[in-house]
Amino acid sequence: MQEGAMQAWIESSQFSGGNAAYIEELFELYLDDAEAIPSEWRELFDSLPREGLATDVKHSEIREQFREAAKQKLKQAGSSAANSEIAEKQVRVLQLINAYRFRGHQHAQLDPLGLWKQATVQDLDPQFHSLTKEDMDTEFNVGSLVIGKDTAKLKDIHQALEAIYCGPIGAEYMHIVDTEEKRWIQQRLESQLGKPKFSDEERKKALKELVAADGLEKYLGSKFPGAKRFSLEGGDALVPLMKSLIRRAGKQGAKEVVIGMAHRGRLNLLINVMGKHPNQLFDEFAGKNTTDKAGDVKYHMGFSSDFETEGGNVHLALAFNPSHLEIVNPVVIGSVRARMDRRGCKDGSQALPITIHGDAAIAGQGVVQETFNLSKTRAYQVGGSIRIVVNNQVGFTTSKREDARSTQYCTDIAKMVQAPIFHVNADDPEAVMFVSQLAIDYRNTFKRDVVIDLVCYRRHGHNEADEPNATQPLMYQKIKKHPVPREIYAKRLLNEKVITEDDVKQLVSDYRDALDKGDCVVDEWQPMKAHSVDWSPFIGNEWDVDYDSSISKDELQTLGEKVSHVPEDFKLNARVGKVYEERAKMAKGDRKLDWGMAETLAYASLVKAGHRIRMTGQDCGRGTFFHRHSVLHNQKDAATFLPLTAIDKDQAPIEIYDSVLSEEAVMAFEYGYATAEPNTMVIWEAQFGDFANGAQVVIDQFLSSGEQKWGRLCGLTLLLPHGYEGQGPEHSSARLERFLQLSADHNWSVCVPTTPAQVFNMIRRQQLRPVRRPLIVMTPKSLLRHPDAVSSLDELAIGKYQNVIGEIDDLDSKKVKRVVFCSGKVYYDLLSARRDSEKTDVAIIRVEQLYPFPHEEMAEVLKDYQHVKDFVWCQEEPQNQGAWYCSQHHFREAIPDGAKLQYAGRAASSSPAVGYAAVHKEQQEKLVNEALSI
Ligand code: AMP
Repeated sequence: MQEGAMQAWIESSQFSGGNAAYIEELFELYLDDAEAIPSEWRELFDSLPREGLATDVKHSEIREQFREAAKQKLKQAGSSAANSEIAEKQVRVLQLINAYRFRGHQHAQLDPLGLWKQATVQDLDPQFHSLTKEDMDTEFNVGSLVIGKDTAKLKDIHQALEAIYCGPIGAEYMHIVDTEEKRWIQQRLESQLGKPKFSDEERKKALKELVAADGLEKYLGSKFPGAKRFSLEGGDALVPLMKSLIRRAGKQGAKEVVIGMAHRGRLNLLINVMGKHPNQLFDEFAGKNTTDKAGDVKYHMGFSSDFETEGGNVHLALAFNPSHLEIVNPVVIGSVRARMDRRGCKDGSQALPITIHGDAAIAGQGVVQETFNLSKTRAYQVGGSIRIVVNNQVGFTTSKREDARSTQYCTDIAKMVQAPIFHVNADDPEAVMFVSQLAIDYRNTFKRDVVIDLVCYRRHGHNEADEPNATQPLMYQKIKKHPVPREIYAKRLLNEKVITEDDVKQLVSDYRDALDKGDCVVDEWQPMKAHSVDWSPFIGNEWDVDYDSSISKDELQTLGEKVSHVPEDFKLNARVGKVYEERAKMAKGDRKLDWGMAETLAYASLVKAGHRIRMTGQDCGRGTFFHRHSVLHNQKDAATFLPLTAIDKDQAPIEIYDSVLSEEAVMAFEYGYATAEPNTMVIWEAQFGDFANGAQVVIDQFLSSGEQKWGRLCGLTLLLPHGYEGQGPEHSSARLERFLQLSADHNWSVCVPTTPAQVFNMIRRQQLRPVRRPLIVMTPKSLLRHPDAVSSLDELAIGKYQNVIGEIDDLDSKKVKRVVFCSGKVYYDLLSARRDSEKTDVAIIRVEQLYPFPHEEMAEVLKDYQHVKDFVWCQEEPQNQGAWYCSQHHFREAIPDGAKLQYAGRAASSSPAVGYAAVHKEQQEKLVNEALSI
């Protein structure tokens, strides 16, 4: 604060009668939470000059000024001791209120087993604030505490605070900076005085849901003893929690809810929330196979259904997921974003993600942080997600806090996005339902993530065959004696005369009977309505299915003009301007097309034909290698413009976003998007190809095997820069070998295009062919500007991706003694070395699609070389990498009987490439010469 202003304020009447501690503490409170102090003081502090007064930072200098000023004032005017004592007490009461808001959760009754050892929080003791027993009957201003009155006796204030903040709900929200959000939460929490009101009907329904949760597990336990089911028991409240969330979301306009969860409680959710038929589950327990695919275990399976709510039916989709805990979360978020985009819903009001986490996993797995980091970004926001932790206080066999995490709560990571966190005792279903309403209302109001930490326990071991007493003896002694949630709640409702003993018995036997019948047990279940998206055009199609990807040269030229047009007042960076000038020439046919132009034209042609496109990746707007420039940046005002959005008034939307610096969450998100939306071309580009290994889980568990395991199609395209250019171990290889090793069942295609025309036709093929399987592309780096890697408009207009490209020079095939197969950039090295050496007896054939291996096209190309006995596979990668080991059986199958296949490439190496440019060059020359026998 400026000194003059401070002085003026000190001399003003508001400052009279204050004492140093009072003003200082009031100011401290104001800095912590402006809303905590009486409004007249807040207005006063607000009115002070702001310089140096960051409200969320304690400012010792300002405090010092207050102290000094107050001392002066006291000296000048003398003060009434009595007045100042009351004022001081008042401030202490406000401090007490504030302490509860900040730290009440640490004393909350959260653990159903009562095992949690929470440290005593001194600030929650009135004495800590010098408030004594004698003060308990004194009436104080309650500040912003929302308890329905302005003043109250200290004992009533204290009692209310205990009930609100230290009951079955522990609310953490004071880390939120936005005052409106904090006030909103306070209003909702405090006005209930810790006792949310539910009608008898709602309470009976909750009991019924607890009976169902418990009943299913008991039923499965007795019918399939020892079978793994990852029982929900202990966390039974998840069922009323989920149903309450879905009901309220539906009432508020949600049309689709996508759920992601790991194993625990999954079967229960499937049967008791989503309405899967128990008979179907029993068949799965019996190991019956219902598909011709590889399939998956029952607790990984997804499910879809509709659920009736007051706002209409809500479609529920439970995402399929592997055993990698937490990885499904970004998949769910991506799926929701796809549904939002399809519905034209920008704020997430029509589609809701609910992700269900384990306590050990949410604290332990890095993808959780990555996913939180997506939550407010342009490319990935979904208007907030509801995150539920089924916190059974043990991860497999690890329960000691000092082993499991370094944070106080398992949910602390959520504070990075200022998500409010509601810890709730799972043995209190009303508190749980109250929190569910709070969470969905908060999410829908503020469009932000919110966390519900359902503190419960796990009645059995990690799975039902486990012996938990071996590692958690005391916990399990306690659990053994602890009544199940439905018993606890039934007792409460019996005591309050809401139900009778007979009612409870009836509920239990009705549920058992329903399971015996095997029919759906969810009252709200509805048959799934026809969907806004139809997958049938893509189901059952193989790679050779017919499709039309023709395009005329004229059309290409028109598109070329559009994509190279820059608005007049848009000032381009000089280098980008040059790229665009050249693109204009390419469009006219005055220059051959380079990679960037051909790729851009592919997108332009697709959006023109009504295909939506979404591309994300680190720096993909410009392109890591300065080649794409689909997002232009005005040098005058930094405004951006995508020429691809100005192709045609009826075109489909195209979105190109630079992604957050993540691979795992981002690729999983795009997988989720692409599995929910077959009509959008979804592309993820790696900054460098090998960075995709940060998302290896997504590649292994979803992309390569999702169709085999779960029958879920996915047309995601991965663009992975790959090529040996002396850039060292980390920037050379996109780990082609890993994709080839995972290739089977025609699960995806792996392409290595070598010309602009090829990239153009490859992109179009991926979208236009009615097959939705991933496309893995080894994309070039130096080839982007290679003088020979150019194509004419006519070549683009061929309209077909060539899986194999035969010899392009005019060699006499009869004189050919050796045929070299290769893929990618090394082709140009081979070509130029052969031309330089004037060798005419070696033909070079490019394999542009390594998987599925194009046997027919290869046979066609090899027709002229049936006399050749000497075949070579040439690659830049070390022998244990690249295509050699995974694809040589295909090459061998292709060559004539009796012919030999040799390897020309780098020696096996544990590292992808050498770090020294000179060594690289030497190796490269050697492998090229060997291949060509020079
Ligand atoms: P969902 O909206 O995810 O619940 O999906 C609804 C229905 O659409 C599913 O039951 C499937 O029949 C179909 N479906 C959804 N996603 C896919 C996919 N990726 N591949 C094939 N069929 C799908």
